[in-house]
Amino acid sequence: MKAIRRFTVRTVLPEPIAPLAQLAGNLRWSWHLPTRELFSSLNPEIWAESSADPVKFLGSVTREQLQQLAADPEVVSRVEVAAADLRRYLEEPRWYQGLGAEAPKSIAYFSPEFGITEVLPQYSGGLGILAGDHLKASSDLGIPLVGVGLLYQAGYFKQSLSRDAWQQETYPVLDPDGLPLTLLREPDGSPAQISLPLPDGRELHAWIWRADVGRVPLLLLDSNVPGNDDAARLITDRLYGGGGDHRLQQELLLGMGGVKALRVHQRLTGGPAPEVFHTNEGHAGFLGIERIRELIESKGLDWDEALAAGRASTVFTTHTPVPAGIDRFQKTQIQQFFDAGLAPGVPTEKILELGSESYDGGDSAVFNMAVMGLRLAQRANGVAKLHGVVSREMFSGLWPDFDHSEVPISSVTNGVHVPTWVDPKISALAVEHFGGSVLDQPDWSKVYEISDQDVWLLRGELRAALVDDVRRRLRASWKKRGAADAELAWTDAVLDPEVLTIGFARRVPTYKRLTLMLRDPARLKALLLNEQHPIQLVIAGKSHPADDAGKKMIQDLVRFTDDPEVRHRIVFLPNYDIAMARTLFPGCDVWLNNPLRPLEACGTSGMKSAINGGLNLSVLDGWWDEMYDGENGWAIPTANNGASAEERDDIEASALYELLETQVAPKFYGSAGFAESAGAAGPSIPTESELPTHWISMIKHTLATLGPAVSAERMLADYVNGLYQPAAIAGRAAAADDFRQAREFARWRNRVLQAWPAVTVEHVDSEGVTEDPQIGDSLAIRAYLNLGGLAPADVRVEVAYGRALDSDELSETASAALGAAEDLGDGRYLFTGDVVIDRSGSFGYTVRVLPEHPALANPAELGLIVSA
Ligand SMILES: *Cc1c(COP(=O)(O)O)cnc(C)c1O
Repeated sequence: MKAIRRFTVRTVLPEPIAPLAQLAGNLRWSWHLPTRELFSSLNPEIWAESSADPVKFLGSVTREQLQQLAADPEVVSRVEVAAADLRRYLEEPRWYQGLGAEAPKSIAYFSPEFGITEVLPQYSGGLGILAGDHLKASSDLGIPLVGVGLLYQAGYFKQSLSRDAWQQETYPVLDPDGLPLTLLREPDGSPAQISLPLPDGRELHAWIWRADVGRVPLLLLDSNVPGNDDAARLITDRLYGGGGDHRLQQELLLGMGGVKALRVHQRLTGGPAPEVFHTNEGHAGFLGIERIRELIESKGLDWDEALAAGRASTVFTTHTPVPAGIDRFQKTQIQQFFDAGLAPGVPTEKILELGSESYDGGDSAVFNMAVMGLRLAQRANGVAKLHGVVSREMFSGLWPDFDHSEVPISSVTNGVHVPTWVDPKISALAVEHFGGSVLDQPDWSKVYEISDQDVWLLRGELRAALVDDVRRRLRASWKKRGAADAELAWTDAVLDPEVLTIGFARRVPTYKRLTLMLRDPARLKALLLNEQHPIQLVIAGKSHPADDAGKKMIQDLVRFTDDPEVRHRIVFLPNYDIAMARTLFPGCDVWLNNPLRPLEACGTSGMKSAINGGLNLSVLDGWWDEMYDGENGWAIPTANNGASAEERDDIEASALYELLETQVAPKFYGSAGFAESAGAAGPSIPTESELPTHWISMIKHTLATLGPAVSAERMLADYVNGLYQPAAIAGRAAAADDFRQAREFARWRNRVLQAWPAVTVEHVDSEGVTEDPQIGDSLAIRAYLNLGGLAPADVRVEVAYGRALDSDELSETASAALGAAEDLGDGRYLFTGDVVIDRSGSFGYTVRVLPEHPALANPAELGLIVSA
C-alpha cells in the first residue's frame, strides 16, 4: 500500500525537557559533540535507529518514554545545562564583536549547495561542504552572516552499485517537516512567500525555510508550493538536476529570489540589512541584477549608477579552472526570461552585456555566469594561491592590456571547520592533555607534548574504527548488489587494522583521476600484497549522473577491487557523504590526491585528513602547492607541460608507485616491519623501539603547522579582513548622501571611457644614468602625455620598472607614481619623477597611464591602460 500523502507530526515535548526542541532545531549539534552525546544518552537504541538525527530521534521516542525522561531530575538538569550552553553560545561576544564599527553589520552569502550535515543532504561535493564550513566557522567567530540557498526536494542522489559495478542513482524525496528547518511565516501565520514572473504569463512562487546553523540563519527557497504549476514546482526538485532552462530557473530563483527572501526575512525578524553580498561561485550571480533593480526602482539611479553602487559591496569567488564547471547559457534564453518582466526597469541588453564573452576565443551567443560574476563584483578571488594565478590567466581576456599578474582577482585559500572534521577521540586526547577543548582556539603546537606512544596508539584506534566501518558498509553494499549473506563471510576480514591505510574519496570528474592508481594494475597489486610493507586502499566517490566517463572509472575501479586476490586490501564504498567522510579522514594514515595539475582549485579533503594526523600524498595542486613543506607529506611530481595526456598519466602514476614503495610504506612500518595482526585482538601495542618515530614526528609537525593554516577560522578572518570589510566600506562610500559617489563615479567612468582612445604617451626622457650605472643611482623620468581632455587628477601616471628579460618583457616589477609638472596646453602634460635603481643586472622601465578614482579598488578595474 502506498500513502497518497505523507507528513511528519512534530512531537510536543513535556515542559521539563522542552529545550530539547531548540537543541535539535539548531544545527550546532552537528559539530557539538556534547549535544549529540546528550541525545544519545537519552536512548542509545533509538538514537542509532534515527541515524544520529535529533529531529528524527525526537519523533521516534514514544510519549511514555518522553514522560519518563521528563520525570527524571537528572535528565532534566542535563537538558537545562545543555540549553543554557547553547544560549550562551548564541549570544556571547566572539571574535568579530571585537572588530569595531567598520565591520559589516550583516553579510549575505549565496551558494547553490550547503553541506552542513548528512541529515540535510543539500550538497554534491566540495563546493557545498565548503559553504557549510563557511557558515559554521562564521557562527563560531560571531560573524553576522546570513546564508541563502535552495531547498531541493531530493537533494543530491544516493549512490549504489549494480552487480556489474555500474553506478545507480536514487533520489529519496525529503519531507521538509522532518528536517531541522522552520518555515518563515507572516505575522498572520501564513507562509512568507516570494514571487518571480516567468515567460508566458506564468508565475514562480517560493516559500522560505530557515535552518539555524549556530548563530547563522540559512534561508532556503522551495518552489514546491501551492499556487505553482507542476513545472514551477519542479524547479527545486533536485541539486544540479536538468540542464538548460531548468538550471537557469534554479539560478534565477537563487539569485533574484534570494535577495527578495533576504528582504522578507529582514522585515519579519528586524535584523540589519546585508552590507556585503558574497556569491560562492557564479551560480548565484543574478543577485547582482536584483540589487540593481532595487536601486533603480527605489533610489532613482540609472543603470550605470546602480551598477557602481552594487559592485562596490559585492564579492565573487570563483571555484574552478575547469571550463565545464562554469555555467554558460544561450543569450536568447536569458533574454526570454528577462523579457518576461523579471527585472522591471532594468534594460535587458545591459544584462546580456554583463555575461558576454567579449574577448578573444569567446562565443558571442553565450551568456557566461562567471564573466557576469566578475563584472558585478568589485572584489573577486580564487580559492588557493595557485588557483589565483590560474584564474588571473583564465580570465585575462577581460583585461586584455594588462599583465596576467595584474588581473584583479585575488585569492583566499579555503579552510575546513575543525570541530566538524576532527575526530572526537582527538578532541578527547586534547582535553585530557591540555585541559582545553580543540573546539575553541586550539593551540596546535601543544601536540609536541604528547608522547609518541600515545600518538601511535590513537592512530591505531582511529584506523581500527575505520576498518570496522568499512566492513559493515562493504557487506551492505554487496547485499544491495544482490549477494547473499552466505557469500559474504570474507567481508568480515577485509582490511587489516595494522596495515598502512590510504584514502581517496571525492567526486569523480575526469580531472581528479580516480583510476590513476590502476595505470599499472600489476604494480598496484604488488604494493597491496607486499609482504613487508603492504598498503590498503579505501576509495569512495559519486560520479555526476550524466557523466558516463566518470561512471566507467568507478566501474573499472570496482572491478579491480572485486578480484578475490586483492579484495581484502582495496575497497570501494558507495554513497560517499559527510557521515562516511567523518570516519574516513581520521582512519586513513595517508590521503591521496592526484588531479591533473592545475585543475584542482583548492581541494579540502586533504585538509580534513591533516587535522586528524593524516599525511598527504598529493600532486602539487590547489592548497598543497602552497602548504607542502617536505615534512608534512609527499609531493607527487608532475610531468612537463609538453607531455601528452597518456604520457602524463604514465609518468605521474609511475612516480606515485615509486613514492609509495620507497618512501611512504617503509617510513610507516619503521624498523619493526609489518606483522600480520592476530585478527579480532585489535591493534597491537608496539614497544618504544618499534615505533615509527619519523612518521610520528611528521604527524606532529602536520598537526602543529597545518592545523591553524587549514582551519576555516583562518579562512573567514581572511575574508573579513581582505574582502568583506573593504567591500562594506566601499559600499557605504558609494551609497552615502543619496548615492553621491556612485552617481559621480558613473559619470566620471563614462567620461574616461570616451576620452581613453585619445590618451597617449608621446615621449619619455630620462636623465641620470651614466655609462656605468650602479645600484642606488637615480633616474629622473620626464614623460610627455596627451590626456585626451582628461585632467591629471583623473589618471595615475607611473613608471613601472624591473628586470628586463631578453624579450624586453619586465619581470619582478615595481612602480612609482609620476607627478604632473607642467600643463603644456592642448590637453598635453609633462609628468616627472625619480626611480632609484634597486637591483643589479638588466634593468628596464616603461611609463603607463591608468584611470584613478577613489571608488576604484584596483587600478586594473576598468580594464584601461596606455603604455609608452
Ligand atoms: C571534503 C569533502 C569533499 C571535497 O573533497 P575534495 O577532495 O576537496 O574534492 C567532497 N565530499 C565530501 C563528503 C567531503 O567531506
